Amino acid sequence: MNYYSLNHTAPNTTFENAVIKGLAPDRGLYFPETITALDPCFFETIETLSNKEIAYEAIKQFISPEIPEAILKEIVSETLSFEFPIIKLTDSISTLELFHGPTMAFKDVGARFMARCLGYFNKNNSSEVTVLVATSGDTGGAVANGFFGVKGVRVVILYPSGKVSNVQEKQLTTLGQNITALEVEGTFDDCQDMVKKAFLDYELTSKMQLTSANSINVARWLPQLFYFMFAYKQLKNKYKDIVFSVPSGNFGNVCAGMIAQKLGLPIKHFIASNNDNNVVTRYLKSADYKPKPSVQTVSNAMDVGNPSNFIRIQAIYNNDFESLKSNLSSYSFSDKETKEALNEIYKTTGYIADPHGAVGYLGSKSYLKTNPDVHCVFFETAHPTKFLDVVKEVVTVDIPLPKQIKAVIDKVKVATQINNYLEFKAFLTEI
Ligand SMILES: *Cc1c(COP(=O)(O)O)cnc(C)c1O
Repeated sequence: MNYYSLNHTAPNTTFENAVIKGLAPDRGLYFPETITALDPCFFETIETLSNKEIAYEAIKQFISPEIPEAILKEIVSETLSFEFPIIKLTDSISTLELFHGPTMAFKDVGARFMARCLGYFNKNNSSEVTVLVATSGDTGGAVANGFFGVKGVRVVILYPSGKVSNVQEKQLTTLGQNITALEVEGTFDDCQDMVKKAFLDYELTSKMQLTSANSINVARWLPQLFYFMFAYKQLKNKYKDIVFSVPSGNFGNVCAGMIAQKLGLPIKHFIASNNDNNVVTRYLKSADYKPKPSVQTVSNAMDVGNPSNFIRIQAIYNNDFESLKSNLSSYSFSDKETKEALNEIYKTTGYIADPHGAVGYLGSKSYLKTNPDVHCVFFETAHPTKFLDVVKEVVTVDIPLPKQIKAVIDKVKVATQINNYLEFKAFLTEI
């Protein structure tokens, strides 16, 4: 598959090149040239297939022929070595748990898939690729874990000091080897700006091959379409109209869902559930797209003021506001509402959600008020123990720590402090 740049001035390129470069030379995000719907039979009989078979069929048009069939099957199989269960909470709301991977957030799938693709493309290459990643919390850990020990790839993670949870910080600062963490005095947007600046810095790019492992990278973004298929597989014989509520920050996840829908997956509607960083909620009301600097919330992985993937969503709808609006609703919720929702979910169903899932739950409830006949699935994008400080305020029972969390919690953090771009650049050129 070839990819074009959404800025429309760079030449189209291969999957391999899109993965290695991250962004197009004209700074545009890459987008697949074509999206071919799968045979309707595939969806009619999806419950007879394993998750790995579903994922392979769904992704292969975007990857082949550059990664041979047998290798792609192996990559998919290694990526998906854990479960994606649906938990029914009420007659109209279920949750899809996306946190059973090694860092207990949904980003594990994209990070593991991308690491393996990059590892494959780099296997005969003597020069190193440097993966730069800015994280608001979960990306750092998932990328660190996914890329740990991958030959020819070094990973540099920038995270905002004091603005990620204790578990998140441990996950991204304790691996060592080819993974380094930089602790930035500032916000997530500051981290993202430094990464963007590095990509534009010829002095750096002439010396080293830089790429991004944020959801701007097609190899991290596209595999997220699997989730929607795994949910559909489990629910199709129970409910007629399925609506997805996706807790959204950079909008990669919900945008991947829209690709699944293009592939023919019968999805009735999408809900982008936001915290107070609500540029898309405001846009759908006013038709005016006005990014704002991010504010800190209890669902920190969604603290994004200017979502990178929104431009891909606009491309899917040919920049047509009305057609986007007919397929996507968006609601935004305060920290107070999020904590009340954690409590409500626990009290009424016994389920312990995390703050991101709670925002997804609230989005489902808002949509159901005017559309009572659909079944809403919200994504549980992280395990509640990743955000124990917040969850413990509301849910007072002891929550056992899963083995993935226990394994990092007592490790010693190793991070280099940086305060500005010059220090970042010096760091990159010195190591
Ligand atoms: C990254 C993340 C999100 C937001 O996903 P996007 O694809 O950036 O919209 C939501 N919840 C959790 C727990 C995350 O880590």
